[in-house]
Amino acid sequence: MRQYIIAGNWKMNKTVSESVTLAKQIVEAVKDVKNTEVVIAPTYLAAAKVADVVKGTNVKLAVQDIHWKDQGAFTGKVSIDMVKEIGAEYVIIGHSEQRQYFHETEETVNLKVKKTLSAGLKPIICIGETLEERNGGILENVLTTQIKGAYQDLSADDALKTVIAYEPVWAIGTGVVATDEQAQDTQAFVRSVMKNIYGESVSEAVRIQYGGSMKPDNAKGLLGQKDIDGGLIGGAALKSDSFFAIIAAAEAQ
Ligand code: PEP
Repeated sequence: MRQYIIAGNWKMNKTVSESVTLAKQIVEAVKDVKNTEVVIAPTYLAAAKVADVVKGTNVKLAVQDIHWKDQGAFTGKVSIDMVKEIGAEYVIIGHSEQRQYFHETEETVNLKVKKTLSAGLKPIICIGETLEERNGGILENVLTTQIKGAYQDLSADDALKTVIAYEPVWAIGTGVVATDEQAQDTQAFVRSVMKNIYGESVSEAVRIQYGGSMKPDNAKGLLGQKDIDGGLIGGAALKSDSFFAIIAAAEAQ
């Protein structure tokens, strides 16, 4: 049985003080949550202070990206040691906004995944197609390329430590959500690609989140699907009540 994982991606929202306030509200809201893994990903600037808030609670810390190099002349970037030191457990990698605006490629996703795993942290690997790709009939090609790229040279043991976030680009931040059936069908396909690479036991164990306008009112249906093991949440993660409502929907499954 795969444990649900609900992760909030705060993107470039919330100042440091606002982040601390939201993190405190979430810690309080989820203190009795037993079965669902809860993760929040503030900005780098807020991450160290949020780390202090979540320490010793059932909320885990993620960051939204890393650089794959250990240190050096990479202005604007943050290394895995820096995020490890503050206690982050997860790193979001390959988000569609990184792919779209910041030249993320299959190769850089793979480098970041390997660096994250080598430091003992866990990657949340984002994949997903644009509407053009879906309508053009190349959905499966796109997802297969992204999965094979991200997992290039990764052992089965390492694959087991990863989480996949299937996020149709057309559903991210748009209010347009994939239907339960669309999400389930696509996530079953993602799992089948993992099965082709790693075999059944790994593919059945790896958790696959859905992301893209998941909200309290659609979370129950999405999370009720066989191959949906959680959510990567943007907009609805910016308020503790809506984020908690999604976590409660996971707990109730
Ligand atoms: C995301 O950024 O990963 C996301 C799914 O955003 P939203 O929930 O706002 O669509």
